[in-house]
Amino acid sequence: MNYQSNRIDQIPPYLFAEINKKKAAMIEAGVDIIDLGIGDPDLPTPKHIVDKLTEELQDPKNLKYPSFVGCTEFKTAVAEFYYRQYGVELNPETEVLALIGSKEGIAHLVPTLVDPGDYVLIPDPSYPVYRMATLLANGQYYHMPLSKENNFEPDFKAIPKEILKCSKLMFLNYPGNPTAATVDVEFFHRAVTFARNHNIPIAHDSAYNMVTFDSYKAPSILEIEGSKEISVEFGSLSKTYNMTGFRIGYVAGNSKIIKALSILKSNTDTGQLTPIQKAAAFALTSDQSCITKHNQIYKERMTAMLEGLKSIGVEVDPPKGSFFIWAPVPKGYTSTEFVTNVLEQTGVILTPGNAFGPSGEGFFRVSLSVPTERLNEAVNRIKQKLKITVS
Ligand SMILES: *Cc1c(COP(=O)(O)O)cnc(C)c1O
Repeated sequence: MNYQSNRIDQIPPYLFAEINKKKAAMIEAGVDIIDLGIGDPDLPTPKHIVDKLTEELQDPKNLKYPSFVGCTEFKTAVAEFYYRQYGVELNPETEVLALIGSKEGIAHLVPTLVDPGDYVLIPDPSYPVYRMATLLANGQYYHMPLSKENNFEPDFKAIPKEILKCSKLMFLNYPGNPTAATVDVEFFHRAVTFARNHNIPIAHDSAYNMVTFDSYKAPSILEIEGSKEISVEFGSLSKTYNMTGFRIGYVAGNSKIIKALSILKSNTDTGQLTPIQKAAAFALTSDQSCITKHNQIYKERMTAMLEGLKSIGVEVDPPKGSFFIWAPVPKGYTSTEFVTNVLEQTGVILTPGNAFGPSGEGFFRVSLSVPTERLNEAVNRIKQKLKITVS
């Protein structure tokens, strides 16, 4: 007896399962593992945010069922953030919805907009949730390949007309995971124009909107005139404020899409714990200097790692956003071979590019979620153990 639906049957085996098994065995054997695979910031949640959570937990009112659509403080704080950061005005009641982490909203948006057989346009490589949520909704996905030559932007003109006709949703993600690619407003202009011409809603995943370096400021798709007619933007507190475990995010933009998603959600979950929403509102509206501080740390790690990679012959342009490095594997390896070799010989965990889609083959992802000394140590081990010939 197979106790799972066809829907679950079609979900491919977890790509990290094999790596996790090896990792566990190596830890057991006493190997000092350096995990550059995880996308979870190692830095702590700023104290003022944790304190606010603790304070809000003391009020018994806050421990009742929350409002289905999110508490007013949180939604207002998101609207304030959009005005402050992008000059975008949002109605907190109709154009903002609180989510139990943006992953939850991304996964629920697909069945909100997609019927069985409909297509979802998905960047390749990208965050696996877009693809898996599509499969779980019995939808089909069309991969928009991202290449370095094209700044990891999809070539909208290359999408076949027959696919466009049955597409009900397009995902975009900048600064990108895993590519670390960033775009300017002009790209969002093109995307919104294309989406409006073909009547395909866009969901822009802006999880790394505030993880940026130097003078680069990541734009919002909602800055584009008319974009609210066709798009929503997902945002998260997870990466900006090191709040991954809090499970709090939001979606902003088109009010009809937000209404539809809230109908699905009100029949599925009952919203996030109010003190978490209030702590998140506080994070968005109080002192923002922690963001600059975190980004400086990532930048320092990034610089060290880029130099380290260069010394083993792997050249990558310095990313302007995200805490990832998306690097080509050395000659003679596939992504899986390289990552497996590195793990077995050095105890350093990297993510193989093909875990993010077929166009990720030939790349590996480094997450900068460990201190600089550990990054240097990782590079030294790779240099010593893997005889990579620098051409
Ligand atoms: C981390 C991440 C998310 C999920 O963030 P949560 O708000 O913690 O669910 C969404 N998209 C991308 C690309 C991410 O890397």
